[in-house]
Amino acid sequence: MADPGRPDILLIEDETAITEPLAEALEREGFTARVAGTAADGLRMASEATPDLVLLDIGLPDGSGLDVCRELRREGELPVIMLTARGSEADRVAGLEMGADDYVVKPFSAREVTARVRAVLRRSRPEPGERERIHIGEVELDANRHSVALAGEALELSRKEFELLKALMERAGDVITRQDLIEDVWDMNWFGSTKTLDVHISGLRKKLGDDPSDPRFIHTVRGVGFRFSAPDEL
Ligand code: CA
Repeated sequence: MADPGRPDILLIEDETAITEPLAEALEREGFTARVAGTAADGLRMASEATPDLVLLDIGLPDGSGLDVCRELRREGELPVIMLTARGSEADRVAGLEMGADDYVVKPFSAREVTARVRAVLRRSRPEPGERERIHIGEVELDANRHSVALAGEALELSRKEFELLKALMERAGDVITRQDLIEDVWDMNWFGSTKTLDVHISGLRKKLGDDPSDPRFIHTVRGVGFRFSAPDEL
């Protein structure tokens, strides 16, 4: 029986020089850590052991962590943090596009990873008392069910895309600065998050069928941030 106060972390990574100290640090910090050394084992353990969060390496002996991430996303809402190589910007963007919640860059300290794990877990739990449903124009967001519909059609959003849309819709009509969005949806002072914000805005627009040069919903306010409004709400 899983201990609810002890989140279960699945670490999918083949390098024992990384997994051993990291698993040890996670256990010390109050998590339960399990390790899978291959993509196949990782996917199996993710569905059988129902972890609370996955730490996922990109370079696995039997495939790419990006494919594992895509597969996990297809199956549900499990939070994923990618472990990526230094300098590999393309991998980080691909990971986020695949629906990863966050990433850490190697070499990382165990302290950095556990802090990131805590932040992502905190974000992935709905806060009590938050507004449940927001309906603006053709877009309907349900915070409790974690669902979004466009003209009645359900949209498949990644967790971060969902949070970003929620942050925009909660203050619809207002311009929200890039910094506010980053602080709302990610952690404060996260280096590199501006690029990450752009990736998610772009993903969100694609799913909303929004043309960045003539948007219906997400409007860019140059040099400041973004504003959500729907055509029939103006
Ligand atoms: Ca590896």
